[in-house]
Amino acid sequence: MLFDTHAHLNFAAFSKNRDKIIKNCQKNNVWLINVGINYETSRKAVEIAEESSQGIYAAIGLHPQEILEERFDFEKYKNLAISSKKVKAIGEIGLDYWHKPKTKSKLAEFKQKQKELLLQEIKLAHELNLPIIFHCRMAHDDLIELLTRPVLVRARTRTGLVPLTLNGVIHCFTGTWQQAQKFLALGFYLGFNGIIFKKIKGISFNEVIKKTPLSRILIETDCPFLTPPQEGDKRNEPIFVKHIVQKIAEIKNISFEKIAKVTTQNAKKLFHI
Ligand SMILES: [Zn+2]
Repeated sequence: MLFDTHAHLNFAAFSKNRDKIIKNCQKNNVWLINVGINYETSRKAVEIAEESSQGIYAAIGLHPQEILEERFDFEKYKNLAISSKKVKAIGEIGLDYWHKPKTKSKLAEFKQKQKELLLQEIKLAHELNLPIIFHCRMAHDDLIELLTRPVLVRARTRTGLVPLTLNGVIHCFTGTWQQAQKFLALGFYLGFNGIIFKKIKGISFNEVIKKTPLSRILIETDCPFLTPPQEGDKRNEPIFVKHIVQKIAEIKNISFEKIAKVTTQNAKKLFHI
């Protein structure tokens, strides 16, 4: 069995063939989490999970790129989370500096707004005791800074000797090994998808994958995006997560079966499945 920890079958891109793709996942024993980026896609992820018999779960959250389209309503998301036992995470939430304003003052405000939203959503995850699926694009150092702020560290230890755990995964990891080490030290998992087949300046996926312990790796597709090259120009779907497993197996020189088994165990552990 394989576990695609980051899919978007909840997106309109799949409205015509969603049932067929889900059947295909079940036939191939691929479990998955559909991840929301705003209220509507979060609600849809929950609906799909509730309609499915087994192996399909939901994550809900407001993505940083959606900040101009939707105001985050804490109670509304909280109610959605507690409406279904199949909601297994808060996500995808985080920081995204890809499209950014050009002036200095606007840039500072843009980053500040994303961080305020993220802190509210981290609070929600805390309150519900759910792990977090982080989206982080061109913002790894800022995310590390935010996650190590005294206010969050205090929250983690406020129960006395037993630290409150803030669990999660940095999905679609595109940082350096130096940054990866910091996330691993904080206890997070790293999620890898079809982006590992691309060449990105300054990033060595091979190095990060080789050095990251298998016990801290999750696999994902981020479908409909990032189709692995082995599937040509097809739209990405959860069963293609096998190519990520194969690539990690080659880099780590470990069998496909072992990668499949351990990453599935990791997903089940993190998301309490
Ligand atoms: Zn995504």
